[in-house]
Amino acid sequence: MFRTVHPKKTVSQTVYASPHATRPPQKPSAPGHNPAVNVSGRSNQRNTHRNTRGRHQKPLQKGDYPAQSRGPEIEDVKPDTLRIIPIGGCEEVGRNMTLFEYGRDIIILDMGLQFPEEDMPGIDYIIPNIKYLQGKEKNVRGVVFTHGHLDHIGAAPLLLEKLGYPLIVSRPLTLALLKHKQEDYKKGTAKNLKIITVKSIDDVVKLGAFTVKFFQVEHSIMDSTGVIIETPAGTVLHAGDWTMERDKEGRAHVMYTH
Ligand SMILES: [Zn+2]
Repeated sequence: MFRTVHPKKTVSQTVYASPHATRPPQKPSAPGHNPAVNVSGRSNQRNTHRNTRGRHQKPLQKGDYPAQSRGPEIEDVKPDTLRIIPIGGCEEVGRNMTLFEYGRDIIILDMGLQFPEEDMPGIDYIIPNIKYLQGKEKNVRGVVFTHGHLDHIGAAPLLLEKLGYPLIVSRPLTLALLKHKQEDYKKGTAKNLKIITVKSIDDVVKLGAFTVKFFQVEHSIMDSTGVIIETPAGTVLHAGDWTMERDKEGRAHVMYTH
C-alpha cells in the first residue's frame, strides 16, 4: 500500500547559507515560520514570509500552526505501509528531497537547495525543512543522491550534519562533488561522510527494509542515475532528472560508462 503525504506547509526553511555568517540562525518563533538570516547575520523574517507563501499572500499569522506542531497532522498508518514524503522539489524548482519511510526505516533521496528569488536580498540559498525527521534521525538508513546538480546535493552539507552523518550512496562524480561541498561548508568535515560508492550501475545497496538499484539516465551531468527502490510494500521507480537528447546519428550525447 502506498501513501503519499504532503507536509508541505512546513517544508520551506529559508536559511543562512554562508558558513561565514556572523551569528547562527535564530530559533524559529513558531513552527512554520521561516527564519532567514542573511550573510551579515541580520534577521530577515518579513521577507521570508512573503517569499515562501508567494508574493501576494498575507504574511503568516500567529496561530496559523499550533505551537510545537509539525504542520498539518499526518495520521498514523498501518505498519506495512510505505510512506513517500516529498520534503521539497514538488511544484517548485529546486530543493529536491524525498523521504521513503517503511516501519522504522527511512531512506532519503537527494538533498537539494533552491536558489533565492530576486525579492530575497541577502539570502544565499534555501534548504528543505527536515523537522519531520526530528527524533527519527536514527531511523535514517541512508541518503541516495541521483546526480550532482546543486538542486539535488546543495543542501547536503548542512542536512547531513544535522542528521549525524548517515550513510550516503551515489556514483563517483556525485560523491566527489558532495565531498567538495562538505569541505566548502566546513573545512575538515568531509572526513565525517560515510560513503557507499555505486561503482557499477548494476550495484545493489541494502538500506534497512529498502533495496536500492540504479539505472542510467541521460542528463547534463555525468553519473546521473534513476533509482529503483524495492520495499516490502512495493517498488518505487524514481527517474531523477533526465533529458532526452540525441545527436544527428541518434547517439546519446553523454556516456555514463566508466
Ligand atoms: Zn539535474
